[in-house]
Amino acid sequence: MTPRRRTSLDEDARMEAMSEPAGAREGGGDESPEPRGMGTRAVWGGETRPGWHGATQVPLVQSVTFAYDDLDEWMAVGAGRAPGHIYSRNTNPTVEVFEEKVRLLEGAEAATSFASGMAAISNTLFALLGPGSRVVSIRDTYGGTSRLFLEFLPRFGVDVTLCATEDRDALADAARAGCDLLYLETPTNPTLKILDLRRLVDAGHAGGAIVVVDNTFASPVNQRPIELGADLVLHSATKFLGGHSDAMAGVVCGRRDLVRTIFEFREINGASLAPPVAHLLIRSLKTLELRVRRQNENALGLARFLHDHPAVERVFYPGLEDDPGHAIAATQMDGFGGIVSFSLAGDFDGLKRFLGALRYAHRAASLGSVGTLIGPPAVTSHVELSPEERAHLGIPETLVRCSVGVENLEDLVADFERALAGLAS
Ligand code: PLP
Repeated sequence: MTPRRRTSLDEDARMEAMSEPAGAREGGGDESPEPRGMGTRAVWGGETRPGWHGATQVPLVQSVTFAYDDLDEWMAVGAGRAPGHIYSRNTNPTVEVFEEKVRLLEGAEAATSFASGMAAISNTLFALLGPGSRVVSIRDTYGGTSRLFLEFLPRFGVDVTLCATEDRDALADAARAGCDLLYLETPTNPTLKILDLRRLVDAGHAGGAIVVVDNTFASPVNQRPIELGADLVLHSATKFLGGHSDAMAGVVCGRRDLVRTIFEFREINGASLAPPVAHLLIRSLKTLELRVRRQNENALGLARFLHDHPAVERVFYPGLEDDPGHAIAATQMDGFGGIVSFSLAGDFDGLKRFLGALRYAHRAASLGSVGTLIGPPAVTSHVELSPEERAHLGIPETLVRCSVGVENLEDLVADFERALAGLAS
C-alpha cells in the first residue's frame, strides 16, 4: 500500500533540518559558520561526511521505498518523530541534498524540489491561491506561466491582473492596491527587461502580498531576491542550475511556512524530482558559479560586439550601459547574465541564413547550458502568436535569443562575425 503521506521527519523537524547550515548536518560536531562563498556553498552544502562506504560523493539513492526491521522505528519515522525516509514521492536523501544546496545558494529558510520548472511554478500557485485570490504579475512572464495566469487560474476563480512590464508605476500601484500574490520575473524573456525588485517587494508587501520571483534567468550567482525581501524564489533548474541541457527540474525556496505549504501540496500532487536527476543536478551545482561567471563575461563581450555591428538592429542586454534596464540591474545583480537578445537589420530570410551559418550554437529552445543555444522567439517561445501579436509584445520578427555558453569568447565572436558577414551577400 502506498503510504498516505509522510516526510522524513515531522514537518517542523524536517523544515528545521532543511534550514540548517550544511556543517550542522555533518556529524563530528562541526560548528563552523555557514559558508559565505557561492562556490563553497555549492560544493559542500548538504553533503554528509563520511558517505556510504566512505564515498566522497553523494550517493544516488535509487530507491522508491525505505525499509525498517524495527516496527517502532518505522512508526517513529512515519509519524515524524525520528529522521528517515519512507517513500521517495515525499522525500529522498539524494533529492534533499540538491534542495539543501539551492537553499544555501539563495539564502533561504527552506527549499523543496519538483520534476520541472513548470511543476515548481504551478505547485506554488495552486498551493497558495484559491477562489477569490488576487494575483498581480507582468505580461512578459515565461509562456507557460503566462498560460497559467490567462487560462488555468481564472477557471478556479483566481483574479489575475497582468501589467505592462515596462510600466513600472502601474505594476507597483497594482500591487500596493492589494493582492494575495505578486509574481515577478527578471530579467524577462525574451527582451531582458529588468524589474526593480526592491521597489516591487515593498509595494507587494504594502498590499499584503506574498512576493514570488522566478530567478531562472539570473541564477543565484547573479541575483538573490530573498536578500531584497522576496518571500519565495523559484527556478526552472533545467536551465542554469542544471547547466548542461540534460536534466529537467524545478525548485522553490524561501519562507519556511510557505515552502511547507507548497511541499505538502507537492507530496500529494506527485510532481516530485527523480533521484537520478537530483544526482546530476548536485554535480552541476558544484560548477554553477564558475559557469555563470564565464557566461556573464561571454554574454557581455558578445553583446558589445553585436551592439557595434551594422547588420544588427538592436541589442537587448542589461549589461550594456544604454540598455533601459541597466541602472536597476547594476544595483540588484552581481552579473548581467548569460542571455543576450538581438534583432537583425534585415528580414526573416536573412535571419535564417545567419542562424544556419553559425558553427558553435545549437539552434534549439531552452537556455543556461554550457553550450551556446540560439533561437528566434518567433519560432520558439512565441511561435503560437501572429506577427502582429508579437509586435504588440515588443518582439521584432528578426529577434534572436542567444543563451551564451562557456566556450571561448574569441571563438564565439569570430563565429558570429562570419555568420553576420554572410548577410550582406
Ligand atoms: N521559468 C522560466 C523563466 C523559463 O524560461 C522556463 C522554461 O524555459 C520555465 C520557467 C519552465 O521551466 P521547465 O521547462 O523546466 O518546466
